[in-house]
Amino acid sequence: MQVDIHEQTCLLIDKSLGVELSRQEQESLRTHVLSCPPCQQYQASTQRVVAALDGFRFEVQPDLNASVHQSMQQLLYKMEADDTARRSMLCSSLSAFLLSFLGSSVVWQLSDYLAAYARMSAGELQTLLLLVWIMPSLLVCLVFPFIPGLLLYRRTQKGWTS
Ligand SMILES: [Zn+2]
Repeated sequence: MQVDIHEQTCLLIDKSLGVELSRQEQESLRTHVLSCPPCQQYQASTQRVVAALDGFRFEVQPDLNASVHQSMQQLLYKMEADDTARRSMLCSSLSAFLLSFLGSSVVWQLSDYLAAYARMSAGELQTLLLLVWIMPSLLVCLVFPFIPGLLLYRRTQKGWTS
């Protein structure tokens, strides 16, 4: 029967942490704890734990939650905009490559005809086209997808902010 009183007292001690005890419970707790060293020890250790946990508590500014929410929202919008820009750049790069390929093919097919006007051999004109038109345009098409990354790298190197 004595064990039940100890358990009941421990429950009362735990309960007193969350809610206010009734007058009868307070009296029962007080009289038992005064005469029982194990329950005194339990109450003391419980109070130390609660005091230690109170040390971790901090005041939160009321508008901090809204500020954090707004920052997260802005970050999400920026990530979506970056994703859209990346897709747009990929489409532009693909289009530039196709247009360069088609333009180069047409000029290559007309090289015999154009060589007569330019008064040079078809081989010379094709070499000239290769060096002046086709290679530079393909090079630009290859570099195109990396332009946003290069701009971002340059921006972070110089410490720019967006
Ligand atoms: Zn006890």
